[in-house]
Amino acid sequence: MAPGIVSPQRSFEQDSASSGPARLDASKLRVTKTLHPSKLPPAEDLTFGSHHTDHILQVRWTSEHGWQTPQIAPYQHLALDPAAAVLHYGFECFEGMKAYRDAWGSVRLFRPEVNLDRLNRSAARIALPTFDADELLKLIARFVKLEERFIYGKPGYSLYIRPVIIATNSNLGVAAPTSALLYCIACPVGPYFSAGFKAITLEAASSVVATRAWPGGAGNHKIGGNYAPCIAPEKAAKARGFQQLLWLFGDDDRITEAGTMNLFIVLRTEQEGCFELITPPLDGMILPGVTRDCVLSLARERLAPSGWTISEREICMSEVVHAAGVGKLVEVFGTGTAAVVSPIRAIKYRDTLVQCGLSRHQSAGAITALFKEWIEARQYAVEEHPWSVPVSEIS
Ligand SMILES: *Cc1c(COP(=O)(O)O)cnc(C)c1O
Repeated sequence: MAPGIVSPQRSFEQDSASSGPARLDASKLRVTKTLHPSKLPPAEDLTFGSHHTDHILQVRWTSEHGWQTPQIAPYQHLALDPAAAVLHYGFECFEGMKAYRDAWGSVRLFRPEVNLDRLNRSAARIALPTFDADELLKLIARFVKLEERFIYGKPGYSLYIRPVIIATNSNLGVAAPTSALLYCIACPVGPYFSAGFKAITLEAASSVVATRAWPGGAGNHKIGGNYAPCIAPEKAAKARGFQQLLWLFGDDDRITEAGTMNLFIVLRTEQEGCFELITPPLDGMILPGVTRDCVLSLARERLAPSGWTISEREICMSEVVHAAGVGKLVEVFGTGTAAVVSPIRAIKYRDTLVQCGLSRHQSAGAITALFKEWIEARQYAVEEHPWSVPVSEIS
């Protein structure tokens, strides 16, 4: 045999003897392109999740063999056994991340490694398989490059990327999954606030009425089971005229999150001309948002030097009500990948409507708007920053 050529039989034996279940390996990717590329939707039609791109990235896993050959194929339905564990016990976790086109036409991912680490933590929490995040990042970069034409080069436009892991084994016992599917789809999206900011009003829900997360639970993970139980209470709040719920916890009505956003509060402090930016701490009941982390990081970098206090601390409704009463509640906003920041006009709490610092004609506070500008500058690489990773550099 010529040097360098190994008999297939021998190399197979070596592989299986040395490595156990296979690791996720992006170099094995197989790509089958669609023969029917879809027409690009008109830019003004891109409401969240209304369109999807032409392909799906899929990787199967079994406990015996590990991660199998990654495939990019034309977008298609999944075939699942009706007994698949995901359909019965909710073995599902997901991520939401975005790709952007910069002013030079290059496509960039924003802090993708943070999303993929979080996906691994979510998977581990519900006994789904974990993976080598660098390999999944390479696969997602390939997928995004293939779908590049769906990323419009206009301010506010992006490609929303949705990686998912589900359990596919079909034995009905409640146990750790023995087979799973990791897949990724993507949706072109337009600006969340197409006609300028729109401030929303929240209804504060005491945890006696409805609870999203609790100590020792799984509210700090992006797992499907956390979301469906929130919809009925949210629907009831909407019927009363409020756009989203503010989830409180405990006898002292501690603030946790609003809808599916992390919450930030700006208070004027005792010291003349000084402010405190507050968000609840990552105590296991808060989803560790990437946008939350961006706000904290930018605040520590750019606001702390001019005397701001940046606090990850517990804050109760009584403190917010008091601050509003004495004119110290400056701004409240939510954060998340979809909207970046979402201004909050008022919070209904017990019998009062707490005004959150906006005048009648104002749709966002100055600090809220500033964070949106700062974060978007890095997302679209107006400000070159390591948070934004060109897909061409991922391989
Ligand atoms: C995804 C999510 C957020 C926001 O996280 P980002 O990483 O900023 O998008 C906040 N709260 C909940 C419950 C979430 O699911």
